[in-house]
Amino acid sequence: MKYEPTADFAASADDADPLRPLREKFHLPAGDDGAPLIYFCGNSLGLQPKHAARLVEEELEDWQRLAVQGHLQARRPWLPYHEQLAAHTAELAGAEPLEVVSMNTLTVNLHLMMVSFYRPVSERYRLLIEKPAFPSDRYAAESQVRFHGFDPAGALIEIGPREGEEAIREADLMACIEREGKSIALVLLPGVQYYSGQAFDMAAITRLARAQGCMVGFDLAHAIGNLPLELHGWGADFAVWCSYKYLNGGPGAVAGCFVHARHARQFELPRFAGWWGHDKATRFRMGPTFSPLPGAEGWQLSNPPILSLAPVIASLEIFHQAGMAALRRKALALTGYLEYLLRERCADRIRMLTPTAAEARGCQLSLKLAAGLERGPALFAELEASGIVADWREPDVIRVAPVPLYNSFDEVYRFVDSLQRLLNQYA
Ligand SMILES: *Cc1c(COP(=O)(O)O)cnc(C)c1O
Repeated sequence: MKYEPTADFAASADDADPLRPLREKFHLPAGDDGAPLIYFCGNSLGLQPKHAARLVEEELEDWQRLAVQGHLQARRPWLPYHEQLAAHTAELAGAEPLEVVSMNTLTVNLHLMMVSFYRPVSERYRLLIEKPAFPSDRYAAESQVRFHGFDPAGALIEIGPREGEEAIREADLMACIEREGKSIALVLLPGVQYYSGQAFDMAAITRLARAQGCMVGFDLAHAIGNLPLELHGWGADFAVWCSYKYLNGGPGAVAGCFVHARHARQFELPRFAGWWGHDKATRFRMGPTFSPLPGAEGWQLSNPPILSLAPVIASLEIFHQAGMAALRRKALALTGYLEYLLRERCADRIRMLTPTAAEARGCQLSLKLAAGLERGPALFAELEASGIVADWREPDVIRVAPVPLYNSFDEVYRFVDSLQRLLNQYA
């Protein structure tokens, strides 16, 4: 796409956008004047699909009407409720339905997966994560290391950007896996790094790490619904994600989990068990001995929280209709346009932390205000007052994520227009 820095260009790009009607499927937050805000925070909390309320209401109605009978007689029976999400979730994850399950929340799933796939022994005991990792992931990783009686100082390898750089060099990451691989039990990396927006080559990482005998897990909190994924083909051992960011499942929505098919029937793997992971055929015999289901479902603990799964169904349906390939095409054009306009109009006052190569990022761009701009927080407050919802990270980073489901070229244009005006004012 050949970009132009004009409102007319943005309008015609929207006219030509085949996914434009999808915006109508979401509730857009509005400002005091009733006009929709420019919502660039879908990487943090996705918008509500209009159909979500209906699905939740139907569950409340069925509960009123049927009470305990709803387990079997609800419009969407509660006992196998989570199974409805498997096909569409598998599509997004690039997985077989057997390999995915909707359950718990992200950090819980990360712990459950580490119980099974981080199994340090004397020679192979280390856990590789990125630096700085999302705090919850680091807490989880460090606590698992300690749980197994190892000292994080030696057992936790944290690989970050080089001094003065913002992104992690993939060559550094690969060299580290190559050099330390024999001592690494688990490589745990993000699909897209939450702070910098950097996307990793999950196929190459998995290939190399597995060749070294390491287990490989991905945190896809910022990747699922953002990038096309091929977890099965790449061969990752597990992956976890939340459903409230790009997946628009609502605050605290039920999260997701992938376990590769090669582990589907490895019933001897250590795991923390619960009755919902037990064989469906015999679950209600209520016997004392745990007999896990094959596949990712075998890691479930509890019966599913119906009211917080319902909105996820609404959102997955939209993803299914749109298709991740088409969404990615639009995302590349949209984020590309954002980058182009920032270069054209704010170049000397904004630095991008996010890599510029298309394959090394998703929707999000992380923008660092130029040094000396002490009034960043005031500038950001003005940006909000002008109807823009973005994300401020101390000390001086603004994260913006135009998402292809509901954002437009016009919004990207108006965002950069406002930002440029404020930068002029605050310079
Ligand atoms: C959003 C996010 C989380 C949040 O974890 P919850 O368990 O859902 O609260 C964890 N890790 C990463 C990388 C995230 O981006």
